[in-house]
Amino acid sequence: MYVAIDDTDSQDKMCTTYLIYEIISRGEYDIIGSPELVRLNPNIGYKTRGNGALNINLGKGSGNTSIIGKANGKFIKSYEKVAGEPDKQELMDFISSIVEDFYVKDDDKTNPGIVISNDRFHSGLYGKALQDDISIEFIENYLSGRAIYRKIKTGHGIIGSSASLAWPGKRYTYELLDYRYPNYGDITYGEKIDISSIPESFYSTFNNIDIKNRYPAIFPKPKTPVIFGVRGVDKNDLITIYDRIKERHNIDDQGYIIYKTNQGTDDHIMPEPDYLSSMGSYSLTGVISGEPYTIEGGHSFVNFKYKNEEIKLAAFEPTKEFRKVLMSVIPGDIVSAYGSYAKGTIKLEKLRVIKKARLYRKEPPVCPECHVKTRSKGQMDYRCPVCKKRYKNPEITEITRELEEKFYEVPVIARRHLSMPLKLMPYFSDIPQTSGVS
Ligand code: ATP
Repeated sequence: MYVAIDDTDSQDKMCTTYLIYEIISRGEYDIIGSPELVRLNPNIGYKTRGNGALNINLGKGSGNTSIIGKANGKFIKSYEKVAGEPDKQELMDFISSIVEDFYVKDDDKTNPGIVISNDRFHSGLYGKALQDDISIEFIENYLSGRAIYRKIKTGHGIIGSSASLAWPGKRYTYELLDYRYPNYGDITYGEKIDISSIPESFYSTFNNIDIKNRYPAIFPKPKTPVIFGVRGVDKNDLITIYDRIKERHNIDDQGYIIYKTNQGTDDHIMPEPDYLSSMGSYSLTGVISGEPYTIEGGHSFVNFKYKNEEIKLAAFEPTKEFRKVLMSVIPGDIVSAYGSYAKGTIKLEKLRVIKKARLYRKEPPVCPECHVKTRSKGQMDYRCPVCKKRYKNPEITEITRELEEKFYEVPVIARRHLSMPLKLMPYFSDIPQTSGVS
């Protein structure tokens, strides 16, 4: 039986994923498959942090087992197949009691929603939840006759919960999240962290550390029950890294869970749409139509023509060294811009330079008789300083541009959960994308 939860945390307290740890570690049900952490529309205003919703399949398991975490010193097993379904209402009561115990009570913006269903939902709902702003009414209509649900306060969380059950999980990665409740205070964010202990060298991991910007992305800034999280495509590597970090930092944790997730998949990116909507995220191929510029605060922009629309591409200050890429495009460059769209602007996550425009410089010609450079005396007037002969035409030379015809991405410090790092592109090249409202 699928259980999904969302919207239990606030900006600086709790983390909905920890509730999955509580559900598992109480051991009342077997786990079938992997618990899932599904990121949804990154442009939604209601999100507290990363717009993530969670689900887990609970019941009686059978078949092969695999390790999906550790709780209180014991490995957590997950079964391959379902052998029996629990009573839906009993399960709802069990889950509700955990949500009631842990959700953040003193924040108006925390509105938990629980959804329990025998089946997963159609992937069209997932596509919609990546691109649109869905209403509670729409979801209640959708759930009617399909699943049972419980709303706490406004119950806005049923939107994310339902959408997580619609994730088809074709492209996926893993994240290992390590916990201690209430909060882990021994690692203070910043200088105390031993940057060299963070595994940037594992081929199968991504977004763990930004060495250039000295940003240890695995340690979250808010003090929630999450001590650290490591992302990658190989579960065994994640466990090796977990052991290493735990030992290096002498971490006294409760346990960890490995989630299957849509992080790093670019599932939110809809390619080349006919119309742009303010909630959407896209890849758009078009032509740079102006000179790039930087405004106060260090945000860089350039005009861009996509189909018949003139829009802007933006690299905001937090994208750090990526701004240099945007500042080196010129009118005529053909590029694909990846990112979310609002107020006529694409907030860049990646930029692919497809065809560079050629850039030329005019220089005074060399006098063919004296072999010295002529001097410019005005428009179309060059004179040899030795023989005084006049020449009309300048010498045209092509300027070598540093920009290359390839993909560029924002650094880890500014990377969105859903954005596919360039490192993972070969890994996903054969698996089609799921985005789009179907
Ligand atoms: P965290 O990542 O720390 O768990 P969060 O950023 O996921 O926090 P939530 O507290 O879960 O933030 O709040 C997100 C809210 O947005 C939830 O109520 C969820 O149901 C809702 N939501 C998610 N996607 C959509 C969507 N496409 N349309 C409308 N509401 C959405």
